[in-house]
Amino acid sequence: MNAIGIEGLPEVRPGDDVAALIEERTTLRDDDVVCVASTIVSKAEDRAFDLSAFPASERARSIADRLEAISGEEKDPRFAQAVIEESDELVLEAPFILAATTFGHVAPNAGIDRSNVPDDDLLLLPEAPSASAARIRSNLDADVGVVVTDTCGRCFRHGQTGVAIGYDGISATRDWRGETDRDGHELEVTNESIVDELAGTANLITGEGDDGIPIVVVRDFEFGAHDGSENLFRDVDDDLVRDALRDWSFEGGST
Ligand code: GDP
Ligand code: MN
Ligand code: MN
Repeated sequence: MNAIGIEGLPEVRPGDDVAALIEERTTLRDDDVVCVASTIVSKAEDRAFDLSAFPASERARSIADRLEAISGEEKDPRFAQAVIEESDELVLEAPFILAATTFGHVAPNAGIDRSNVPDDDLLLLPEAPSASAARIRSNLDADVGVVVTDTCGRCFRHGQTGVAIGYDGISATRDWRGETDRDGHELEVTNESIVDELAGTANLITGEGDDGIPIVVVRDFEFGAHDGSENLFRDVDDDLVRDALRDWSFEGGST
């Protein structure tokens, strides 16, 4: 398997055709997986905003006040308002906002970015990243998979990795259940999130700063003879951790 960063992409602007930007610079092959950083999908979809677009509600002001008291840093209530508007649920309000986006991804601050956004204060995630992936894919000549990625932290571990927030033309998971290990034992649990693994692979090349490489083509990845599933995000009803977090409240002082 090879992962190839696409060089020479410009600053992406609202209305840009991401598929055309790719095809102007490389020739894709059938079965490639094209990983696109959500940052440029958002830019192309005109998702950059000034904070002034989010006049703060009372709830946003109270969340910002609490976060300010905890962190000792100034918090703009309009940022909290943007997070509220992008979310179905705030799973945590403190010591940081953990939000379930309207499309199912759970992330600090609903994945709203303040880096790599030149002219505005905020960059919201794409409204429906799998639909974005499908649009990009349908505008490409080759029959590829498309994964929209974002950099995200994980519970229990230091550091962030690339994760998939949307995908099309590829299964979210590779299901090993019912297959056997080297000793003939049947696998009962493992349903491998390949879109996250591909996103993590891409993120090794995109970097996080001024590299200017938001698109990575993964070539010769073999899915193999496995079942797949389209589901990446857990159903709210069978997410025990989310349930537990709802009942938990942060009592600490400063962090
Ligand atoms: P995220 O992980 O989707 O939030 O995206 P990042 O902000 O981490 O950026 C991923 C990569 O894309 C980095 O290499 C950035 O330098 C690059 N990048 C971000 N925006 C643009 C852009 O508009 N044009 C180009 N060429 N690169 C960009
Ligand atoms: Mn991001
Ligand atoms: Mn990133």
